[in-house]
Amino acid sequence: MDCVFCKIASGEINSKIIFENEDVIAFNDLNPQAPTHILIVPKRHIDSLIKAKEEDIELLGKIQYAAKLIAEKFKIEHFRLVANNGSKAGQSVFHIHYHFLSGRRLMWPPG
Ligand code: AMP
Ligand code: ZN
Repeated sequence: MDCVFCKIASGEINSKIIFENEDVIAFNDLNPQAPTHILIVPKRHIDSLIKAKEEDIELLGKIQYAAKLIAEKFKIEHFRLVANNGSKAGQSVFHIHYHFLSGRRLMWPPG
């Protein structure tokens, strides 16, 4: 499949890997929107959150848990975890991923 995040997960495309375990990989966003901007991605391809199935529930939990481990590793207390679902919500890569943003004041509502 021609998917940039599958290629990062397989090592075909280089990225700055921040965290990795059996199910999840996390790497720096190429176009950071905050001083810390990490993408947390399951190694298994899922197009987007809306395409997730019941059997993916554990994997989705592992993504959130990876965010917690990353926060602990870098002693980050204030961060935002966000998944864009669909192009009108800002999704541009159709392999599910969660943005881990930190290092500046994050506005709410996000706009
Ligand atoms: P989204 O717009 O929510 O789908 O997020 C996709 C993110 O992937 C964007 O923030 C891009 O900057 C980022 N991105 C795209 N290609 C790469 C890449 N090769 N390495 C790291 N980040 C990437
Ligand atoms: Zn993929």
